[in-house]
Amino acid sequence: MHDEPLDPFAGDPVDPTFVVDAVSEHSTALNPSERQDVLDDLADLEAFESLLSPRRIRGLVVDCEDCKVPHYFAWDLLRSNLKQLLEAGCSRVHEPAFNPDPNDYVSWEYARGYADGTQDALEE
Ligand SMILES: [Zn+2]
Repeated sequence: MHDEPLDPFAGDPVDPTFVVDAVSEHSTALNPSERQDVLDDLADLEAFESLLSPRRIRGLVVDCEDCKVPHYFAWDLLRSNLKQLLEAGCSRVHEPAFNPDPNDYVSWEYARGYADGTQDALEE
């Protein structure tokens, strides 16, 4: 005998718990001002590298909010992180330089101060 009970909802095409709006609003894309911030950072980075790499500075040191320790990033990695941020809306790259020499890296603030000082010197 094959007396399986009939399922009255078998083949029902609509699952009423399916919610369509889950994909609508939650894009990771940057808003225009965030995007501009990243573009500004990229421009700063270009300026810092051209000023500082001739002085044997290999990149920037960034205090990581997740790890609570400074990370040392070479120029190329900083640039690719920022470009990823522009394209993907997030940057989770965590590949700080291996066994860095802290003397080879400066903070973002130091680099900005150096760039500003150089700019002032040029204008005088
Ligand atoms: Zn970290």
